[in-house]
Amino acid sequence: MDIFKLLPRTNCRECQSPSCLAFAMKVAAGKASHRDCPHIDPGSAATLEEMMEPPILRFEIAGGRKRFALGGEKVIYRHEETFYSPTAVGVEIPPGLGEQELKEKAARIKALSFERVGQELSVEMAAIEDPGDGDFARYAGWAGQEGLAVILKTGRPESVEGILSRPRGDGAVLYTTRELFSRHASQMAEAGVIPCLPVRSVQEAEEAGAMFREAGLKKGILGICPDDFGQALEILYRCRLEPLARRNRNLGFPTLIWDPPSPDRLFNAAAAIMKYASIVVIDEDSPGRVLPLLTLRQNIFTDPRRPIQVEAKLYRIGDPGPQSPVLITTNFSLTYFTVSQEIEASRIPAFLLVIDTDGTSVLTAWSADRFSPRIINDWIVKHQVGGLISHGRVVIPGHVAMLKDELEELSGLQVVAGPREAQGIPEFLRKQAQEAGQG
Ligand code: SF4
Repeated sequence: MDIFKLLPRTNCRECQSPSCLAFAMKVAAGKASHRDCPHIDPGSAATLEEMMEPPILRFEIAGGRKRFALGGEKVIYRHEETFYSPTAVGVEIPPGLGEQELKEKAARIKALSFERVGQELSVEMAAIEDPGDGDFARYAGWAGQEGLAVILKTGRPESVEGILSRPRGDGAVLYTTRELFSRHASQMAEAGVIPCLPVRSVQEAEEAGAMFREAGLKKGILGICPDDFGQALEILYRCRLEPLARRNRNLGFPTLIWDPPSPDRLFNAAAAIMKYASIVVIDEDSPGRVLPLLTLRQNIFTDPRRPIQVEAKLYRIGDPGPQSPVLITTNFSLTYFTVSQEIEASRIPAFLLVIDTDGTSVLTAWSADRFSPRIINDWIVKHQVGGLISHGRVVIPGHVAMLKDELEELSGLQVVAGPREAQGIPEFLRKQAQEAGQG
């Protein structure tokens, strides 16, 4: 009704809706924009604009190899819907590096890219603090050339002026003081630079948010930096809770936490990812330390409403022939990658028939009747599995050994129950090969 009250209420139908009320309902459901009403007055449009703004601002950073979003979250707990903008991870560049060392550091950061369950996980940003002894602004250009989005941290007026005199338009984050922000807010927007202001308490976060809003900025980041990590988590939590539960828009900005305070910085970085940080900057570039963080992020930012799945089809691992085994599993991504990696580890070429179970795991699919003998047999027939092999045998997961008899009857093939856990596959395949006289 709040939206309806701001409409002209003439029911003229020019918006293709039968009435203003129907149109208001469409706007509320996100199926129409208030701009589709040609008769709304500018004051009401501005009010509606503000009402329809997401409680937590969302914007994109495009300075690196790939564009990524910050903010825009709609729920406090992931199970309520999903989280939308994965925490960006930045690696700190130590001050005072020479040209060659900078290149090597950038190469190490860019190498922090991994593939896991079919998705690419990588570090997005480099973060540099002004050493205060030279042309800091040059780093803005350097990071862009290296394909990294950049966070530039400085409290020196000449450095801020230098950065702003080099229009970028690609979303470099400038982490600076309130005073310098106040002096240069409009230039920052023009230069495409995203301001980040340091905040040590919830009150300071509110003040910084109010400063962004008063400056009319659609982009701004709260740099959470109290000495105590418990306090940092409290601010992160309030910056999620207050905008969503109480429409406190001053706290509705993405957040950044740079090198979370000790004792264990990496552990704290993990906690910050779990507790709503939009950007986490770490001082690590070792793959063994960074991969667990990226894995954690991947797990938190997958959509719990949609299991990650792979294409259901017949996969050929290695170069299988008529003597090769045929294994059957579901198209839950984690299941597929675990099983296929274990087959690869066995060094025995094999066929892997992946059944469409809407991305659910073996036991879940079986209990929901999506991995039944009839369905498995349909896929066996569809991919003409019987014609690919000379031994007439297929392997089903050990957890669903009870499907064996019925599947044998339907398919006319011999059905063998494989191991219950994927790590048993290499030994199982080697034994099967030996028994068949191939080992
Ligand atoms: S165009 Fe505007 S005034 Fe006309 S029916 Fe739609 S909402 Fe109402």
